[in-house]
Amino acid sequence: MDIRSRFGLRPVINASGTMTGLGASSVGAPVIDAVARMLPQFVEIDDLQRKASAVIAEACGSEAGYVTASCSAAITLTIAAAMTGDDPGLIERLPDTSGMPGLRNEVVIQTGHLVNYGAPVDQAIRLSGARVVPVGAATEAHGYQLNTAITERTAAALYVVSHHTVQFGLIPFEEFVAVAHAKGVPVIVDAASEYDLERFIAGGADLALYSAHKFLGGLTAGIVAGNKALVRAAYFQNGGIGRGMKVGKEGIVGAIVALEQWQQRDHLAIRARERGYLTLWRETLNRCEGVWAEIDADPTGNPLDRLKLHIDPKLARISAWDLADALARAPEGEAPVIVRDHEAELQFFFLDPCNLHAGEAQIVLSRILAELERARVAPEPIVTPFHQRDARRLDARRNWPD
Ligand SMILES: *Cc1c(COP(=O)(O)O)cnc(C)c1O
Repeated sequence: MDIRSRFGLRPVINASGTMTGLGASSVGAPVIDAVARMLPQFVEIDDLQRKASAVIAEACGSEAGYVTASCSAAITLTIAAAMTGDDPGLIERLPDTSGMPGLRNEVVIQTGHLVNYGAPVDQAIRLSGARVVPVGAATEAHGYQLNTAITERTAAALYVVSHHTVQFGLIPFEEFVAVAHAKGVPVIVDAASEYDLERFIAGGADLALYSAHKFLGGLTAGIVAGNKALVRAAYFQNGGIGRGMKVGKEGIVGAIVALEQWQQRDHLAIRARERGYLTLWRETLNRCEGVWAEIDADPTGNPLDRLKLHIDPKLARISAWDLADALARAPEGEAPVIVRDHEAELQFFFLDPCNLHAGEAQIVLSRILAELERARVAPEPIVTPFHQRDARRLDARRNWPD
C-alpha cells in the first residue's frame, strides 16, 4: 500500500527537480536500510560525525567535513564559524555581535547572488548575527568592488552557485577567490545543488556546502566540506545557534551512505535514460500547435538536461503558466504533474527528468497533450494575467492548515 493513501495524500509526479515542497529526494534502498538499522541504536555522535568527516573529505577532496541539518543551516553555521572561530564564549553570544570590538561580523556577497531558494540567502547570513554587505549591482559586479567591500570587519565572502542567481556579468569564481584571499578572507561556497563535489575546494574555496537531500538522494541534511579549523568551528556552533538546526543520527548516516552510493552510481546509464525521456517529449510535443520544445543544458553546468517547453499563447490558446497550473491541479483521480515553472511569465517552463519513476515520463506527456487539447477546443483562450496567478497561489496558502 502506498503510504500516501494512508494519510489521504495524492501521489505526485515530480517533473520539476529536487524540491523541498515535494519531499526533496527519492531516497534509495541502501540509504533507507542503513538509516533503519541505525535508528533503534545509540551512538556517540562525535564519533559518527568523525566518520562523516572522513567520508566527506574523501568525496570532496577537503581536509574535513561534517553533517548539519540542511545547506541553509550550513550557510548560517559556517558564517558563525568565520566570526567566532572555536571560542565557546563567542559561540554562545551569537547572534549578538555588538560590543565586541575587533570581531569581524560582515559578509560580502554579490548582489546578483542574493536569491531566494525557499528562503532568502541573506537571511541565512543574518541568522548568525552577521551583517550582509552586497557587492555590485544585480546584473554587474567587478573584482575591484569586492576588493573595496572587504574591510577589517569582513568575516567571510559567500559565493552562491545556483540556477536562481544571475548567470552573467558577475565576478567569476576564480577571481572572487583571488580577491578575497588576497585580503585574508575565507570563501564559503553555497553549492547546495551542484553535482561536482570537488570543483570548489579544488578551486580554492575554504568551505563548500551541499544539500544531502538533492542530487545525492540522502535524508534531509547539509554537508559542510573544507578547511579543518573552519569545519571544527562550524561544528562547535551546535553548542550555540546550531542547536535549533541540529541533525540527528539518521541524517548523518543518511549523508554518509548517500555519499558512498554517489561514488558507485552508474551516472552514464542514468543520463541515457533521461535522454530517452527528453527525446520522446521533444519529438511528440514539437508536433503540437503553438509549442516549441528544445533540450536545454543545466545553467550551472550540472550533467543534467531538461526539456524547455516554449508556449505561444496565441497559437496554443493557453499560456505557459496556465498549462503548468492545469498540470499541477490535475483532474479528479489523476496525479498532479509538477513542472519547473519559476520563469513561466516568459512563456516557457521546463520538464526535469531527474526524479521521475518508471512509467511516469509517459504520463507527463499524455497529461500535457490532454491539457493542450482541452485548450484547443475551449470556447475562450486560457490566459490568466500573471499577477492574478500569483495572487491565487498566495491565497491558496493563506488558510493553511484549513
Ligand atoms: C536548495 C538550496 C539551498 C538550501 O538547501 P537546503 O539543504 O534545502 O537547506 C541553499 N542554496 C541553494 C543555492 C539551493 O539550491
